[in-house]
Amino acid sequence: MNLKVDVLVLGGGAAGFFAAVNAARLNRGLRVALVEKSSKVLSKVLVSGGGRCNVTHHCLEPGILVGNYPRGGNVLRQVFARWGTEDTIHWFGQRGVPLKTEADGRMFPVTDRSETVARCLLTEAEKYGVAVLLNTHYDTIRPMEGGFVLKGPGGTAHCSQLLVATGGHPKGEAYRWLEDLGHRIVAPVPSLFTFNLPQNPITELMGVSVPEATVRLTAFKKSSNGPLLITHWGLSGPAILRLSALAARDLNACQYRFEFSIQWLPTLHEDQIRENLLKQQKDFNQSQVIGHLGLGLPARLVRYLVEKVGLDPSKRWSEWSRKDLNRFTALLANDTYQAQGKTTFKEEFVTAGGVHLGDVNLTDMQSKRVPNLYFAGEVLDIDGVTGGFNFQAAWSTGWLAAKGMAGEGSNE
Ligand SMILES: Cc1cc2nc3c(=O)[nH]c(=O)nc-3n(C[C@H](O)[C@H](O)[C@H](O)COP(=O)(O)OP(=O)(O)OC[C@H]3O[C@@H](n4cnc5c(N)ncnc54)[C@H](O)[C@@H]3O)c2cc1C
Repeated sequence: MNLKVDVLVLGGGAAGFFAAVNAARLNRGLRVALVEKSSKVLSKVLVSGGGRCNVTHHCLEPGILVGNYPRGGNVLRQVFARWGTEDTIHWFGQRGVPLKTEADGRMFPVTDRSETVARCLLTEAEKYGVAVLLNTHYDTIRPMEGGFVLKGPGGTAHCSQLLVATGGHPKGEAYRWLEDLGHRIVAPVPSLFTFNLPQNPITELMGVSVPEATVRLTAFKKSSNGPLLITHWGLSGPAILRLSALAARDLNACQYRFEFSIQWLPTLHEDQIRENLLKQQKDFNQSQVIGHLGLGLPARLVRYLVEKVGLDPSKRWSEWSRKDLNRFTALLANDTYQAQGKTTFKEEFVTAGGVHLGDVNLTDMQSKRVPNLYFAGEVLDIDGVTGGFNFQAAWSTGWLAAKGMAGEGSNE
């Protein structure tokens, strides 16, 4: 099939769809087409958030929002100042998809169904005449006078403006064609994963969680704080996922074999833990340590930690020497593990790396190397922690690209 359009969008994910429907809406004179290489559009939107789609995060201040992007960071401030979370909430709300906020700030459609979000985008595409082509891709893309010519197994396409919204990819080869067009590519590595502890006895506690722990990667001077969950393969939960994102590159470089430590009671200094334990020892001298620790940790975890430090959990407080108490205190403050490998969290992952942000004009997401070529979404060197931040980056960059492509004719 031969195609001739004003705007051609490569990639039918969140960023590509959002850009395509908004470009068509902002400038009704544009002929817009979106091509998707697979047989399905919006597949990540549909599976995201456990089928509920964590659309964005209730963080309305761009300066605070950027703190959730290990890659992209401060340069995103200007992007979010132009299209922030409030704009996303408003955009979906206006189209019959009101969002609700959960206690941790994550925002979902009130229907709790990701189909609602996908259907909204598909309806907009239909309403504004965006042509959607499935099972289509192009092997060669050549800039030429007045636009681009693309050739693939299914035919040729001509367009005046081209948006690349092809998402992240773990392999550098996937970005080669963008490199050939003069862009720098930051080497892609996976982000957002859990830590594997094969055969470690802590995995016998699977299902146990603590509401707050600090996890440290001392070698890389990085740490993260938050809920921690023990699984049958290792450790997971927001504290781990966040740290995996902060240290995505470091951990890739050491092939996911690294030491980390857990501070089980991060709100207490080591001296305070010791004081608390001494008080418990005094008050419950004839009782078993295990039942009278008084620090609010789950009983199974306490038993495991007591055994880890080489003590007998059935002993009474009176049988613990000062040295025992000090050893246990030290473990609570700094419990070390050797991770061996990583696991994807609920199949959710993102790519750290992609098109260098220095090669993109962040006011309209246009390439600084090739005029009329735009970028949006995860193909860029932007990624966030879990919580709706990755979709927000897709909506924001998609919107700016749409505005840029809609150009002078833009009616907003
Ligand atoms: C299972 C899972 C759950 C997630 N849950 C959440 C969540 O709840 N909240 C959140 O914020 N983030 C979540 N994420 C991350 C989020 O989905 C991504 O960051 C976001 O989808 C990126 O959007 P995108 O449009 O840039 O890329 P994608 O969604 O990856 O879309 C890119 C599209 O381009 C197509 N494509 C690739 N190459 C070509 C080509 N050459 N020609 C044509 N088409 C091409 C691909 O097939 C794909 O459909 C999740 C990720 C996964 C994997």
